[in-house]
Amino acid sequence: KDFHILYKSLRKIDWRVIEIIFKKMWDYKYVPSDLILKLSGIKESELNKILRRLSDDGLLDNRSQPYFGSSLTFLGMSLYSLRKLVTRNKLDMLGKKMGEGKESVVYNCYSEKYGECVIKFHKLGAHFRKIREKRDYGDLHLSVLTVRSAKKEYSALKRLFGIINVPEAFAWEGNAVMMELIDGKELFRVRLENPEDALDIILEDTKKMFRAGIIHGDLSQYNILVSDDLYIIDFPQHVDLDHENWPDILKKDIENVLSYFKKAYGIEKDINSVTKYIISE
Ligand code: ADP
Ligand code: MN
Repeated sequence: KDFHILYKSLRKIDWRVIEIIFKKMWDYKYVPSDLILKLSGIKESELNKILRRLSDDGLLDNRSQPYFGSSLTFLGMSLYSLRKLVTRNKLDMLGKKMGEGKESVVYNCYSEKYGECVIKFHKLGAHFRKIREKRDYGDLHLSVLTVRSAKKEYSALKRLFGIINVPEAFAWEGNAVMMELIDGKELFRVRLENPEDALDIILEDTKKMFRAGIIHGDLSQYNILVSDDLYIIDFPQHVDLDHENWPDILKKDIENVLSYFKKAYGIEKDINSVTKYIISE
């Protein structure tokens, strides 16, 4: 079913159930039905119907072993986040889907406060699967990680706004980040007139980010938008300088950018001197 139609089909009582599951997701991988029953005050037969319907519509992931419990799916999490932004008067209308990647779904939206903007719903991409192998997230449901991912992106956008060109972040809720709409195209889809200047700006931005203590972690022609200016986007995987691997991550970012400009425009720069420039005072 369509996102908009599903959103409108939900009643107050459904939202109450969804909110309880969201709040208790940090304590339970699957929130026990008994607990939802207690906290919601909904009659058991009614609650069972609601849980089944929300699962049929793809909002919940229900299980019956070793106890009855529910978790939010990506869809359930996204609808919950949207609802929160609407009730906080941050967002007034959801528009069309602009794109769907491995790590997110991005929609146009409209806000009385901020005008036309975008909302990015974070998914669990390949990046988080890798983390999961390395670290033990114990009994956390993976959808909790989409909230961390959105929070991380929101905080990077806030920290970098005014330092380099990034979309202005307006709000964060659940797995969703609402931000300024950049009217442009990804770098890989445009033919630049002054590629040397663009490369200089990107490397300078990388240096400014580094000074602000942030390494992008996925910098490439896919995460740079070109309008009148260049904008850097997509920050959920950024690392701080206390990350043990930061030199490798920075080097990878620089490598991506340099090899793209070499391939697309024949511009060659030495990675070691560029790296030195970026980390120098
Ligand atoms: P992903 O992790 O899925 O790559 P991105 O943040 O890169 O997430 O967003 C996916 C796509 O959505 C981008 O490549 C871009 O086309 C579009 N997009 C994201 N943020 C904005 C924005 N603020 N303004 C305009 N388009 C955006
Ligand atoms: Mn991206």
